[in-house]
Amino acid sequence: RLTYIWCPGTQRVNWLGVEAGKVSVLRPVGVADAAAVITHLCFSPLSDGATVLGKRWKDTAETVIIGGGCVGVSVAYHLAKGGMKDVVLLEKTELTAGSTWHAAGLTTYYHPGINVKKVHYDSIKLYETLEAETGQAVGLHTPGSVRIAATAARVDEMRYQMTRTHWHVTEQYMIGPEKVLELFPLLDINKVLAGLYTPGDGHIDPYSLTMALAAGARMYGAQIYNPAPVTSLSPTADGKWDVQTPHGTIRANRIVNATGFWAREVGKMIGFDHPTIPVHHQYVVTATVPEVKALKKELAVIRDLEASYYLRQERDGLLFGPYEKMEKMKLQDSWVREGVPPGFGKELFESDLDRIMEHVEMAMEMVPVLKKADIINVVSGPITYTPDLLPMVGPHQGVRNYWAAVGFGYGVIHAGGIGKFLSDWIRNGEPPYDLIECDPNRYGRWADVPFMCNNTLLIHRPIKLGYPKEERFAGRPTYRLSGVYELLNDKASMGFHAGWEQPHWFYKPGDDVGYKPSFRRTNWFGPVGRECKLVMEKVGVIDLTPFAKFIVKGKDSQKLLDRLFANNMPKVGLTNISHMLTPAGRVFAEVTITQLTPGEFLLITGSGSEGHDLRWIEDEAANGGYDVDISNITDDVGVLGIAGPNSRNVLQKLTDEDLSDGGFKFLHCKSIKLLYIDQKNMAAVYQAMMEAGQDQGIDNFGTYAMNSLRLEKGFRGWGAEMNCDTNPLEAGLDYFIKLNKPSDFIGKAALQEIKAKGLRRKLSYITLDTDDIDPEGNETVWYNGKVVGNTTSGAYSYSSQQSLAFAYLPLDLCSVGQKVEVELLGRKYPAMVIQEPLVLTEPTRTRLQKKAKSKA
Ligand SMILES: Cc1cc2nc3c(=O)[nH]c(=O)nc-3n(C[C@H](O)[C@H](O)[C@H](O)COP(=O)(O)OP(=O)(O)OC[C@H]3O[C@@H](n4cnc5c(N)ncnc54)[C@H](O)[C@@H]3O)c2cc1C
Repeated sequence: RLTYIWCPGTQRVNWLGVEAGKVSVLRPVGVADAAAVITHLCFSPLSDGATVLGKRWKDTAETVIIGGGCVGVSVAYHLAKGGMKDVVLLEKTELTAGSTWHAAGLTTYYHPGINVKKVHYDSIKLYETLEAETGQAVGLHTPGSVRIAATAARVDEMRYQMTRTHWHVTEQYMIGPEKVLELFPLLDINKVLAGLYTPGDGHIDPYSLTMALAAGARMYGAQIYNPAPVTSLSPTADGKWDVQTPHGTIRANRIVNATGFWAREVGKMIGFDHPTIPVHHQYVVTATVPEVKALKKELAVIRDLEASYYLRQERDGLLFGPYEKMEKMKLQDSWVREGVPPGFGKELFESDLDRIMEHVEMAMEMVPVLKKADIINVVSGPITYTPDLLPMVGPHQGVRNYWAAVGFGYGVIHAGGIGKFLSDWIRNGEPPYDLIECDPNRYGRWADVPFMCNNTLLIHRPIKLGYPKEERFAGRPTYRLSGVYELLNDKASMGFHAGWEQPHWFYKPGDDVGYKPSFRRTNWFGPVGRECKLVMEKVGVIDLTPFAKFIVKGKDSQKLLDRLFANNMPKVGLTNISHMLTPAGRVFAEVTITQLTPGEFLLITGSGSEGHDLRWIEDEAANGGYDVDISNITDDVGVLGIAGPNSRNVLQKLTDEDLSDGGFKFLHCKSIKLLYIDQKNMAAVYQAMMEAGQDQGIDNFGTYAMNSLRLEKGFRGWGAEMNCDTNPLEAGLDYFIKLNKPSDFIGKAALQEIKAKGLRRKLSYITLDTDDIDPEGNETVWYNGKVVGNTTSGAYSYSSQQSLAFAYLPLDLCSVGQKVEVELLGRKYPAMVIQEPLVLTEPTRTRLQKKAKSKA
């Protein structure tokens, strides 16, 4: 087995290989360096200088961070810098002794996800100033980077990404082959169609970065203990944790799991199965390449997306890292099943060049100097993935005061930004900005080991095109199947929502079926229009089972919900839409609430926010000492939606309850055992409904039609029009916010202040004059050549035959009739602010008609 040892060398970390006691130099290091390493090996304590023996053990802490990789140390740095006293980091062996020490260190502002871009931005901005702040060099190089497009579809993807970037602080440009060549003169430019250029990108020395963060953390008062392995975790009755190590136990107000590929081990200490899996990732370093040595400035980092590798300059040579294809990729799934072998720390895996030869050959075509470059080092180490390749960051549902900072596939670029994000959240009681895609609670029991392994094999973003409405099929279906899944599965194109299968759109004879994503309108455009027409003119049935459902009951249920929600709680038999706000008055969640019986409330929320919302509710209940009983009934209850002018006629055939307009009004609830139903009876109810609706023209519809219809109706969607980046007043949710309600709901004071100060922007409703493309959300809005806002969601309106979107616009541009432009795939389309809603449905249509008549 090869063991690699670091030696803080001149500019970068250098390594030696030790095999059966024989030291072999695998990367050129100076003799003095080598001697220093050997001395370090033989005589230094197993720490970075701050030995445990010389330190007083703390019995209590405000926050204990477990794991001293770049992520954990960054959390410690930010908490201490933010003023938190008693921050303790416990590291099992040495700082960086997981994935961090051997990472390739690439840093980039780019991320396809809107919110994650901010994490990258915060990281790089911190890395630029860390040396001046701490006195510790971090080896940051910023030659910029270019993502290379070699196919027309990839050029479209870049245009798509550009439209989503203009309203961000990050600089990003689409450039032609000439400019690509200027930034990376060693390319065979004939293969390049375009490039996505991000100035300021580059690479950093992960070891030095972590040491600088550690120096900063200590400077601001944090304690770092190592070697201090955490051996067990026990919750106390008052929500704290006893963190046990061989040196003693620390009682912590909260703990943060930042243990890299040991995350599952630490999670298991408290009964969690975090869906993280180590994957072998290899990169290759070459000896000096004369053409590289002769360059006057550092090469930009390139990412060849079709051939799936990154390539950067490493001193006078090159560093080449491929993302292996699923057939070749090696998962370390035995560690998932059996745990990381005791003692595994700074070892690497045995390298296997065969697995990456295909990429090497493609790289040699693109960068011909590689053909004669000598490989002097191959690094193969464990990188941690989650099923969607995004980390899990934030407080975890199911226990109190346990925070996750795990699952980092790109932890070096994420560390700075995530450390800031997490510490701001811990200190202020709410996330500083929306990062729902990294919420640790997005996974549940359904994300089991086979699901995780299958997804990890398929996920590599650099290979795959990132289409809008991206669907991944690996590991599906999970155990989460609605009662009508078997009936609908082969009739529809299925989408995946929090482990559930849900029909996106239904097939009819003659349709071009299947999932065929595109940056433009695609095969589902026609069928979705057919379903919208069905619902507007007749009656449609939709499987809405993925909705999360909770029951809150008990002595203090109303009191708790009044504290949590900005709306008044509905009376028995009534339903309303209510919002949970953060203390700063931003929208944390949107929930449909029904009071079933006195003090018993049914809460319905989106599939993607099940754990997210439940955690918030449970925490408030525990922290406030409310006497309530909260249960998650999501898996037990199926949901069928029935919509359209004939829907009441169909339902009426199936129940004796009066379902007339007057007998069953909008936002009223009746227990008729038809809509929220036991999963096992769902198929029977569905079939009865379809039979009863034969003469009314009943048929199925899916969530794509539902999205278009809700936009036509001007209904805002959580996660798009509202989230932790928006307040409810600018989102136009005033109707649901009861600032005069007697109870002091969370966010009330902040919202009163926001209201008093006045808004700066407002959610606006716009139509667009497009051709074969519709807005999706997050596109840039322009006015007079300047960026003025962004869309939040969009779709084609089949009723009015035009594209439709919501967009945030400054107050002076949101009056009805205002003209703006929306950029889609690199082209600016004319758009206009209109009065909402675009389409009236019952009962609003009748109400407004009556109102108009009475006025006349
Ligand atoms: C070959 C390779 C190249 C890479 N290149 C890049 C790149 O270019 N850019 C990029 O952004 N990312 C890159 N990565 C990924 C990056 O290295 C990781 O995402 C990042 O280092 C993860 O940091 P971490 O702090 O989460 O975990 P780790 O670095 O694994 O740290 C976890 C720490 O927790 C400690 N620990 C574990 N259990 C316990 C316990 N019970 N008690 C106390 N301490 C414990 C461990 O000893 C370890 O020090 C690369 C990874 C590999 C393998």
